[in-house]
Amino acid sequence: MKALFGSAQCCTKESAEWWRSSTTDIADEYARARAEAVLLNSYEQYPALASDKKHTFDLAIFMLRYYMDEAPLAGGFWAAGQAGWEPIAIEERIIIDLGDIKLSFQLDRLVRLPSHDLTVLVDLKTAGRMNKNWERNWPLSLQQKLYRWAVREHYSLDLSGHYIEGLLKDVPCDLKYVELPDWSDAELAEAVELFKTLWQRDATLIRSCSTINAETMTYEVDIAKLTEVGLTETTTNPFDCYSYYTQCPMYDICQAPPNQRVALLEESFEWVEPLYLA
Ligand code: SF4
Repeated sequence: MKALFGSAQCCTKESAEWWRSSTTDIADEYARARAEAVLLNSYEQYPALASDKKHTFDLAIFMLRYYMDEAPLAGGFWAAGQAGWEPIAIEERIIIDLGDIKLSFQLDRLVRLPSHDLTVLVDLKTAGRMNKNWERNWPLSLQQKLYRWAVREHYSLDLSGHYIEGLLKDVPCDLKYVELPDWSDAELAEAVELFKTLWQRDATLIRSCSTINAETMTYEVDIAKLTEVGLTETTTNPFDCYSYYTQCPMYDICQAPPNQRVALLEESFEWVEPLYLA
């Protein structure tokens, strides 16, 4: 039932602000304050966050401060040291046109070391646990293969390194870097085909809950029907319910009898207008 990739991550926006600010000419303390202000703003904007015991403000600020103290700009890439790196993109939306569909995602951090002609991609993930099983999952990640492929298409460059940057959701905090494989062209092309197949499945579902507006000739989605169908007639992803060692926020809804799921969803979640649609 889950959307293709994951859920909102804590620390993503805040860490992006940190990298944006700390790599410009402003004082370190000011850069830290800006990142912390982004966090505070998220909690003010979405008060429900603060009442969730797993995402208290105290934990979030602890994690953010640990991150600002410890995370290197080039992630786990140490071959040429950590000095002299500069960002190519921080929290930037990339859109690749695939004909009928667009692949759209937000890049956490793409950095380069001009003196050595090196480019590294880093994707931040928060996690409840970061053990060997957590590490083993990443080389299979469709999301990361698509990132790799899209970065090459968009920037016309090959990566020197591609890392998952794991940030532990706990006190004490921890950072761990997982280096992803140098996937072949065939593996990346296969990932793109799989993405199209999954898109086709979702598009069919959405169309089955839509009508065509005769004047504008556009689809108008019946959100209530789509919610009902999505919660009761789609396949589940049981292996994803605890991905990143964190229970999926939809877990209680998926475990409830089908006729109770819509009510549970309305009770537990707030509708937020999508920040991006294209
Ligand atoms: S709880 Fe499991 S099946 Fe339900 S939405 Fe989450 S990942 Fe999918």
